Amino acid sequence: MAAISDRLRTFLAQRADGMNDGTVPGEQAIHAIAQEEWLGLGVPARLGGSGGPLLGAIESIAAVSEYCLTSGFLLWCHRMLIEYLAHSENPWLHEQVLPRLLTADLHGATGLSNAVKHLAGIEPLRVEAELRAENVTINGSLAWVSNLAPGGFAVAVAARTGGDRWAVIAVPSSGKGVEAGKELPLFGLGSSLTAPIRFDRVSLPATWLIHEDGETFLRRIRARFVLLQIGLSLGLARRSLSEASSAGRDLTQGLAKRADTIAATLRRFEEAVREYGCAESLDPEELPHVFELRIALANLAIEAVWFELQAKGGRAYLKGCGTGRRLREAAFLPIVSPTCVQLEEELNRHYMRAPV
Ligand SMILES: Cc1cc2nc3c(=O)[nH]c(=O)nc-3n(C[C@H](O)[C@H](O)[C@H](O)COP(=O)(O)OP(=O)(O)OC[C@H]3O[C@@H](n4cnc5c(N)ncnc54)[C@H](O)[C@@H]3O)c2cc1C
Repeated sequence: MAAISDRLRTFLAQRADGMNDGTVPGEQAIHAIAQEEWLGLGVPARLGGSGGPLLGAIESIAAVSEYCLTSGFLLWCHRMLIEYLAHSENPWLHEQVLPRLLTADLHGATGLSNAVKHLAGIEPLRVEAELRAENVTINGSLAWVSNLAPGGFAVAVAARTGGDRWAVIAVPSSGKGVEAGKELPLFGLGSSLTAPIRFDRVSLPATWLIHEDGETFLRRIRARFVLLQIGLSLGLARRSLSEASSAGRDLTQGLAKRADTIAATLRRFEEAVREYGCAESLDPEELPHVFELRIALANLAIEAVWFELQAKGGRAYLKGCGTGRRLREAAFLPIVSPTCVQLEEELNRHYMRAPV
């Protein structure tokens, strides 16, 4: 488990309600997390990271989410762009962009839910790109992208390049024709810097290309994408369970039994996260199990928050005790792409194909 400093814990806890309500500036969260030197966890040392398994990065997202899920989600967005660049074979991105992300000099965003849905046959790609030897021109728009920091960001987009082919490209906010829209009014995660984004004939040097074959690339990093997301659920489940257990009075026998059951399930899932998070590489056959774990942990976190509410009773209704905020934070877990519904349908298709 990533040990969080008192400085970061206090920073996150004091701002958590404001981050959820959208009343404090979101971009400060990544700077505060960068000071903890967590952005390079699980990134190879040869690329400027601090090395170690992916588990370090998953646990950092969990540790932040225990105090503020909005900040945990911003960390996930930022960390995903780092992950894409680390898996790119483009040395220019490694040398020129990755170091800026690792120090939070530049904010990282991921607009790949469109591609994640496209890969599952749910929707067409919304962005197109014309690839030439020296440059790339990008057109289109995405409805939801987070961590669009006003101070400057780069966002990963999936863009159709002709026929069935599509590429993954990093697009800097400084590019002419990049237009982040007004932040969306949200009922939770209000300071997640979430807005639609438009690309109007954005012309960039081809050095911004992350991977020319988007499908191969996304399939390669899909397990890591989902495993890092699992950090959000892990953090929230841990926090709600500990809040419920320290609700200020002894739990009734029935509540204590439920707490034990949730804790035992959480321990089992933590073991699985540790195993996947420490694996050198994941066999494609493991992917359905990673999907199952993502669904199960989202459900467990939701159950843990509702359990916290019941264990605290009326006190849970008081503003400032965190339970109300966590109920709203938990609502995000099933709908972040790939949504639990999408994953369930993919699993159904997978198991129907499998021989009995
Ligand atoms: C606060 C917030 C921040 C976000 N930030 C980002 C971001 O930074 N980057 C990003 O790329 N996206 C972002 N998103 C989008 C998010 O990741 C999901 O893609 C989105 O919430 C789900 O897509 P939708 O709303 O278009 O659902 P819809 O496409 O309208 O679908 C509704 C539900 O039905 C399911 N569904 C629909 N059709 C099918 C089908 N054929 N098979 C299986 N299931 C299906 C969907 O999975 C979903 O559960 C954000 C969303 C929110 C709420």
